[in-house]
Amino acid sequence: MGNVLQSVGRHAPTILTFAALAGLFWWGHHSGWRLAKPTVEPAHAASDAWCPEHHVPEQACMLCKKSLSKELAAKEPARHRTAGEQVRFAQIASAQVLAKAGIRVEPAIITSVAPRLRVAGETMYPPKSVARLGSRSDGIVRQVLVQVGAVVPAESLVAVVETAEVGRAKSTLMQTVTALDLARTQARRARVTVAAGIRTPADLEEIESRLRSAEVAAFDAEQALRNLGLGINASSLSGLDAASLAVRLRHLGLPEGYDDGGSANLLPVRAPLAGTVTEIRAVVGEAVEANAPLVVVADVSTLWVSLPVPAGRATQVAVGQAVAFAPAAGVAADGTVVAIAQAADPQTRLVTVWATVANAEQRLRVGIFGTATITTGAAMTAALVPAGAVQFDGDQAYVFVRRTETVFRCLPVRVLAREDGRLAVDRLADGDVIAVAGTAALFAVAFSERMGAGCCE
Ligand SMILES: [Zn+2]
Repeated sequence: MGNVLQSVGRHAPTILTFAALAGLFWWGHHSGWRLAKPTVEPAHAASDAWCPEHHVPEQACMLCKKSLSKELAAKEPARHRTAGEQVRFAQIASAQVLAKAGIRVEPAIITSVAPRLRVAGETMYPPKSVARLGSRSDGIVRQVLVQVGAVVPAESLVAVVETAEVGRAKSTLMQTVTALDLARTQARRARVTVAAGIRTPADLEEIESRLRSAEVAAFDAEQALRNLGLGINASSLSGLDAASLAVRLRHLGLPEGYDDGGSANLLPVRAPLAGTVTEIRAVVGEAVEANAPLVVVADVSTLWVSLPVPAGRATQVAVGQAVAFAPAAGVAADGTVVAIAQAADPQTRLVTVWATVANAEQRLRVGIFGTATITTGAAMTAALVPAGAVQFDGDQAYVFVRRTETVFRCLPVRVLAREDGRLAVDRLADGDVIAVAGTAALFAVAFSERMGAGCCE
């Protein structure tokens, strides 16, 4: 929680403290501390003496009469006593001065608080659940077989592109398969004739070499089709005549009975994963470049939210923590932290945290902005106090618990969480009455020894 405290700033409270103290003393001098004395504090009516140093009735001055301070410290409840902790009080001259200094009190509200971090976020596709499908080659969109919102199984045909490269690759494969068949026949014959002494071994060597070249050519042609997404095994075509080869290759990759309109240049575009069609950019008849996305298919039952977290607070975030995402408009969704970036962005000093959010009913869309609340720790019992109730001395936070009408315990507390201008602090319990405003003045009084002998007539 250290960095939560730091974020409050080390300098502002000190300045405020001095300002408030100066204000309190100024008010005291100009209105006359003594005016309040006899009526408001009957306990001090017996003596008109006024501690000139601490601006409280001399009889009751806890700073001059250490026994008073010790007496009160001894009455502190056990939960407000820690071994080695200096017990500080802030004593105010009178109830009137209290009111003039703007000090207000309220009972502490004890509640269950979980430390939370609130950051802006944007929905995105889960990285492994989205496929942007394009043609492997430049061409013309011939058909789009799906609509946005359609749920498609894996390997389903979503579009067909007509591309001359497919025709060329099929033609090359046909030629090389035919040439390979011929080279194999020639090699078979040559082996027999060489064995019979009709041809020379040199002839055979040349024929075997041609066979190897034909094998390589057929392999290359097969790979060229595979690179277009059309898998075929050249050896399965061996022995087929030209007409049969043409029939086998013409519908390559297309469903049985697909009406090709007489074209052998058709390239199927298939979804590699099951999901919902979330985007269609393909327009029938339009020219497309290789690999330009034509259709986006994604499994959107779960979305990701990217959450840039200030580097200083990213240390509180861990994989598995609960996240509630509230889109700027729409239905909130729950999720979990799944990944945290290794490094902060060098410019923004933000560390990206990713969370999954459930989207079974597909109410969330990708690219939606919203607010995410990350629960960074277990729920604990704490007092939820207004920010004005807490004063900071560096990293140490203090609240002021009322002990008598004019004496407050300056209690060191830990800030456990911070939310909507309120702070969750420890050590308070039901029944504690704390100052919620004017605490800068109380802080200044509690630490008045730091101010030195700054007050003089
Ligand atoms: Zn005194």
